[in-house]
Amino acid sequence: MSIDWDNLGFDYIKTPYRYISVWKDGQWDEGKLTEDNTLNIHEGSAALHYGQQCFEGLKAYRCEDGSINLFRIDENSKRMNRSARHLLMAEVPEEKFIQAVEEVVKANEEFVPPYGSGATLYIRPLLIGIGEGIGVHSAPEFLFTVFCMPVGAYFKGGLTPTNFVVSDYDRAAPHGTGSIKVGGNYAASLLPGEKAKEKHFSDCIYLDPTTHTKIEEVGSANFFGITKDDRFITPLSPSILPSITKYSLLYLAEHRLGMEVVEEDVYLDSLSKFKEAGACGTAAVISPIGGIQTFDEFHVFYSETEVGPVTQKLYNELTGIQFGDVPAPDGWIRNIK
Ligand SMILES: *Cc1c(COP(=O)(O)O)cnc(C)c1O
Repeated sequence: MSIDWDNLGFDYIKTPYRYISVWKDGQWDEGKLTEDNTLNIHEGSAALHYGQQCFEGLKAYRCEDGSINLFRIDENSKRMNRSARHLLMAEVPEEKFIQAVEEVVKANEEFVPPYGSGATLYIRPLLIGIGEGIGVHSAPEFLFTVFCMPVGAYFKGGLTPTNFVVSDYDRAAPHGTGSIKVGGNYAASLLPGEKAKEKHFSDCIYLDPTTHTKIEEVGSANFFGITKDDRFITPLSPSILPSITKYSLLYLAEHRLGMEVVEEDVYLDSLSKFKEAGACGTAAVISPIGGIQTFDEFHVFYSETEVGPVTQKLYNELTGIQFGDVPAPDGWIRNIK
């Protein structure tokens, strides 16, 4: 195995083992690790036709002592079950979810990048509706799988700021599926994302679907801004995916950095109150936003080339906790040997 840990992007890499379990006749089977990275499912599977599927994303972090940290995995389990309930899918018990992730990480241990490389093991739990069907109703069976791969930066640049463009498409509706982690939201974001990349932006920023005047999120990461008077502000909306990273930063900004933190509307015409801005998520970690192309201007925050000092502090605190270098708030870290 020859992996260049320092130059990993965010791409699929086959690791030896994945976990798979099937729900049928009202219960989950025991689940097992397999080396087969393909799924053989019924052609009428509801996941394929009607988008009855949801997923999660979390990471395993190699610590200096060689052990491995999982970050707030219970929150991923709770969120996946919220998604499952919304889409009428069988829930995965928290113990089963955690056991599956731990088994996959341990089985693929040699793919957990070394401490100090900055790379991590990205873990993808996936829940899909399978089995015979074609009518529009919930699937008779469900498949839960967890696989993983080593990854580096999600937005190329890492802690170097990148630019974003405001989209005139919506990814989710106010009373729709924006707040759950489902593939359908991503299907809706492919075309806008492609258009943004054609114009050399990292991705687009979605606005509130009702008035198109407020920032919602980046489509795979939440938005935050630091005001000139050092407040941490992040948008509040029912169609934003509640990012575990975002809620962690809200806590850390308040309790570790002593900042005032606010969830509120972030109007596009009020960007000048921010001295720094960023996108945050498990994959994106904290990606500083250099500038945003709005409908009528290109607004630069701190700098197009350098990360701002508050963003840097938040990054150090968050990643310090994840890699085991900074004490974690109670219950945030699960250390596996
Ligand atoms: C997963 C996701 C995020 C980030 O959430 P984390 O829990 O921080 O990883 C943000 N936005 C969307 C749309 C997502 O699917």
